[in-house]
Amino acid sequence: VPRFYASTQTCHICGHKEPKTKALSIRKWTCPECKAMHDRDVNAAINILSKGKTLLPSVA
Ligand SMILES: [Zn+2]
Repeated sequence: VPRFYASTQTCHICGHKEPKTKALSIRKWTCPECKAMHDRDVNAAINILSKGKTLLPSVA
């Protein structure tokens, strides 16, 4: 995963980026676009997973 990819800040449902979630104290946040609730660690894992499949299509 590229270092510049803000996985913890990105809604995996609608792709909205929420910069304030980069604060380590924020573990859960609600996407203002699609109203989905995200646990930052789970959201990061999902985003990394989907990003990884995009970067390495042969693995999937
Ligand atoms: Zn969203």
